[in-house]
Amino acid sequence: MHVIDGHSHIGNDTFWKNVGDIQEYLKNLEKKGISEAFIMSVACPTIERNDQKVSLLIHGEKNIENDHLRIIKNKDGSITKELIKKNDNPYKEANDLIYNIVTNNSSPIKLNYVPLIHPYYYSYEDFISNLKRGAKMFKIHGIAGGVLPDNISDEFFEMIESLGVSLIIHTDYSKTNDLQMSNSPDAWLNRLSKYNIDVYLAHAARLSENAISTINQDSRYMVGIGPDLLLSRPGRNYIDTNHYLETCLEKFNINKMIFDIDYPWNIISNQDYSLDWDSIDRINSLLSKNEQEIVYNKNIEKITKGKEVRK
Ligand SMILES: [Zn+2]
Repeated sequence: MHVIDGHSHIGNDTFWKNVGDIQEYLKNLEKKGISEAFIMSVACPTIERNDQKVSLLIHGEKNIENDHLRIIKNKDGSITKELIKKNDNPYKEANDLIYNIVTNNSSPIKLNYVPLIHPYYYSYEDFISNLKRGAKMFKIHGIAGGVLPDNISDEFFEMIESLGVSLIIHTDYSKTNDLQMSNSPDAWLNRLSKYNIDVYLAHAARLSENAISTINQDSRYMVGIGPDLLLSRPGRNYIDTNHYLETCLEKFNINKMIFDIDYPWNIISNQDYSLDWDSIDRINSLLSKNEQEIVYNKNIEKITKGKEVRK
């Protein structure tokens, strides 16, 4: 069976213990018989530039315009802060890294390039160059980018709509954190509703009952269902469940779910950061062959094939 990982990350994340290492990733995909993947930068990339370590975008709590900074740690230990500017995609270097991996890939696993974009800082040229690189889907990570969906311009969504590409959007849930709740699936679906944009909502839209019913009925939307062990922990979803995978399968129509690993966030638990590669075995035990086919390749192929663009 052709199995596609719909969403995993490569690179160093400023706030995450595990590094996304392409060799480790490919080795484990091969072991599990997974033959294709959509890969993207980690959410909050730190890159090495000459003798510097650069966190490409760090935000404060307020998410006002001058609250988004590039933090450069120089060789002598000093720190330089640069304000992120309009028309300047802060993630360009992280995207280049992913694109180079995809271009130079000699493994038997097919890799697809997914650029990370920031809805406040982007340029039309950047979109076009990423399309020329073969991107069929763009990633938005609201929390890492300090993004409030309600503050994104109409122009941004209109551009995505006119290009006919899909978005993959991280969704959040928290009982206590306002910024996380600003990036809830409900907030995103509300902001997206007037646009003809296909959207892949990560983390099963945190099992929001509102979102589940919208997604099941609306042909624009699908969900990723990983990483199931982490999301089985308390406080991660609107519905508290320690049977996350079973709850996803019970709540979403089969033609709405996409298999994704979310490497290197595919950890056993908040206490144990070792990686889990067995979600495919758990899903296999819960689905018929026909259903597996839909979740492993048909749905992701549908959402990444591109839309007829407006004239
Ligand atoms: Zn992810």
